[in-house]
Amino acid sequence: MATRHIHGYCGLCIARCGTVATVAGGRFTRLDPDPSHPTGQALCGKGRAAPELVYHPERRTYPHAFGTPNARITLDLCG
Ligand code: SF4
Repeated sequence: MATRHIHGYCGLCIARCGTVATVAGGRFTRLDPDPSHPTGQALCGKGRAAPELVYHPERRTYPHAFGTPNARITLDLCG
């Protein structure tokens, strides 16, 4: 099972902390701070939970209208 470490940043808030994502066997398994990045000295709990967000069974994989979370819309209607 191949493991890759991919440098990037967390997009969950405006801080954009530097990150290293671990992908093992094609699955995103872990997010760690990237000490080589100016904002990568630590990650908050939300950033560390990124793999759980990706694979949560109730994660929305389609756009929906603001205020109507169950109303599926097309990408053409998005901003
Ligand atoms: S790790 Fe936390 S503080 Fe850093 S960008 Fe992600 S959500 Fe924001």
